[in-house]
Amino acid sequence: MTMERIANYIDGRLEAPRSGCYIDNIEPATGQVYSLIADSDAADLEQAMTAANRAFPEWSALSAEERARLLLGIADRIEAETEPLARAESIDTGKPISLARQVDIPRAAANMRFFAHAITQFASEAHSMGPLAINYTLRQPLGVVACISPWNLPLYLLTWKIAPALASGNCVIAKPSELTPMTAYLLARICIDAGLPRGVLNILHGTGPRIGRALVAHPKIKAIAFTGGTRTGAEIARIAAPQFKKLSLELGGKNPTLVFADCDWDATLATTVRAAFFNQGQACLCGSRIFVERPIYERFRSDFLARAEALEPGDPLDEKTQQGALVSELHLHKVLSAIELGQQEGGTILAGGHRVTVPGRCAEGYFVKPTVFEDLAFDCRTNQEEIFGPVATLIPFESEAQVLEYANSTEYGLAATVWSRDVQRCHRVAQQLEAGVVWINTWMVRDLRTPFGGMKHSGVGREGGVEALRFFTEAKNVCIKL
Ligand code: NAD
Repeated sequence: MTMERIANYIDGRLEAPRSGCYIDNIEPATGQVYSLIADSDAADLEQAMTAANRAFPEWSALSAEERARLLLGIADRIEAETEPLARAESIDTGKPISLARQVDIPRAAANMRFFAHAITQFASEAHSMGPLAINYTLRQPLGVVACISPWNLPLYLLTWKIAPALASGNCVIAKPSELTPMTAYLLARICIDAGLPRGVLNILHGTGPRIGRALVAHPKIKAIAFTGGTRTGAEIARIAAPQFKKLSLELGGKNPTLVFADCDWDATLATTVRAAFFNQGQACLCGSRIFVERPIYERFRSDFLARAEALEPGDPLDEKTQQGALVSELHLHKVLSAIELGQQEGGTILAGGHRVTVPGRCAEGYFVKPTVFEDLAFDCRTNQEEIFGPVATLIPFESEAQVLEYANSTEYGLAATVWSRDVQRCHRVAQQLEAGVVWINTWMVRDLRTPFGGMKHSGVGREGGVEALRFFTEAKNVCIKL
């Protein structure tokens, strides 16, 4: 059997990499190579850049309605192909198929649809100077932009970037993660089928250091929307800043969950477990530091553990599975060494703490039992560094001031969740949390119109709604003397 070769999408066609080089694509649940990924380089990038530049004048001149119509066509096709896309996403990432079906693929369609509608409602400002003059602001597309996405929510985050970029009239060169390229490849086929004009969207596969870096450095790339690790974000900024490219960076997190004694018990417990172990803890929004007010600590710990222990890793393609595999062998070892570090730092493992063998076809897969620590100081490395795996720590606190100190102590500032029935406290704490996204008595509820992004080392800029459309356009003020 010949293996599927994941091709680039350039100038409206599926193209093999110029070099003829491919890299292995591994199914994390089995540890086996199951397809090959184009290992693109500067030659492929030049081809994509030529196509994108050629497409730009016509694409940017289309009416917003016409661009929206094409994006809606893509959204409809994603929705119609939910099942094969969910299956592909599950195989490629190791995430449970039920999760891909309920979250990843519907959200990818929603992203396309949301920005298709949003661009038809996008308005710019006018500033009157009375009898003297009037100013109006034009918001014009930038040209060719880069969208670079990670492996944890592959199609979800890729579409989150390309939809506003395309809707606002830019042409795009996208670089999905080399660990999870499959749904981006399937999206290319969908775009061809939907009649997206040639060169408007180009997707180049391959590694970060090779094609990712070349894309970032290319002088004709006007803006970079990146989601991924903080270290990679810093490297991208180092290259892009001296060229004055616009940058949107969505980076790592180490999100706190604050559980006050007056919380709604059942809702808090169920959602806090989900927030810790969703997608095997591999979501930037996961709440991995769980602070619990002292009077309820013992009871919360015991109920939390019972639920965490019930999460049994299994074959991601099994409908009943709630915990899948970690994305790669490298990541598996990173998570296992973080667990080792937690023990060295004096942490007590209350649940999990080890690799799991799932019998049958998944015997070689990268599974880790959901892991819960206690007895770790808020400022130790385990509680400061992003693990991005199924590892949570429980920490008791005595007062609001203390939990705020704990919560804000990391270099990250992406998301935070507060559980309490005291409305005033919720508002007070929300104001003081250093996080770009705060949830009160809920988690992961997303309105695509809201600004999304992180403070501190969690990122620069905001995505979502009008923020994304502003990022992907250049504001030009026109002043007319009256
Ligand atoms: P990563 O930084 O390793 O890779 C992300 C993407 O960047 C990949 O496509 C990769 O190939 C590419 N890349 C790597 N080096 C590059 C370089 N030098 N130049 C250009 N591109 C390069 O991140 P990852 O491991 O794929 O994803 C996990 C990280 O993403 C975690 O830190 C997580 O918190 C973060 N994340 C953040 C958000 C958010 O919205 N803030 C969402 C999801 C994931």
